[in-house]
Amino acid sequence: MINFHPTLEQLRAFVTGDLPPALSIMVSAHCDMCPRCMEMVDSITEELAQESFDEVSGQESHELPNSMQSMLADITKLPSSLSADELITIAKKKDNNHIELDGRKFPLPRTLHRYVNKTGNWSSLVGKLWQAPVDMGTQGVANFIFMGHGGSVPEHTHRGTEYTLVINGEFSDGLNQYDSGDFILMDSTHTHTPEAVSHDGCLVFSMVDEPLHFTSGLARLLNPFSHLFFR
Ligand SMILES: [Zn+2]
Repeated sequence: MINFHPTLEQLRAFVTGDLPPALSIMVSAHCDMCPRCMEMVDSITEELAQESFDEVSGQESHELPNSMQSMLADITKLPSSLSADELITIAKKKDNNHIELDGRKFPLPRTLHRYVNKTGNWSSLVGKLWQAPVDMGTQGVANFIFMGHGGSVPEHTHRGTEYTLVINGEFSDGLNQYDSGDFILMDSTHTHTPEAVSHDGCLVFSMVDEPLHFTSGLARLLNPFSHLFFR
C-alpha cells in the first residue's frame, strides 16, 4: 500500500510546470502508480483550467467563442489523446516497458519507459546492491538500485536532495517502511540506512542532486567515491 505521496504543493507545481525537471519526472512516475495522486492531478488541472477560463471571460465583455471553449476542453482532457491501453500496447511493442536483472523482469511506470533504452548495465556494489545508471540527458543521472533480500545501503545523509520511487518490493530505512509506489524525498536533515525487507528484494528508482554523505563506520571511507556509486 502506498503511504508516501508528493505534497499538494508539489502536485500543483507539477501541473503548472514549476517543478525542477528531475522532480517532475519522479512525481509523474509516482502518479502512474498512484490512483489517488493521479486523481488529484486531474482535479488540480481542471481547477486551473477553470480559473484561467474565468480570468479570460472576466476580461471579455462578451461570451467566449466556441473555439476557445473547445480548446480549453482539449487542454483539460489529460494526459493524452491515446488511451492508457493504447500506450501500454505501444510500450510492449517496443519492449521498453520493463528492465531486467538476473532474468527477472520488472515492469516500470509509464513515465520511465522512455528511459529504458538509456539505462546502462547493472553493476554489483557492496552488500547485495546492484545499480544501473540512467542517462537523463540535461536532468543528470539517475539510478535503478536493486537491494537483494537483506541487502542495505550504508548509513548516509544527503548534501542535496535524494528522490526515491519504490518500483517493486519493500524496504525500510530505520525511519519508515516503504512499499511499491512510495515517493520518498530525503535531504540533509535525514540520516538513514535503507535495507530491503521483502524476500524478493527491492527495486527503486533514485535521483540524487548531490553526492551522498556517509556517516558511519567504514562506509565513511566511501565518501570520496560516493559520487561514483550514487550519482
Ligand atoms: Zn500518491
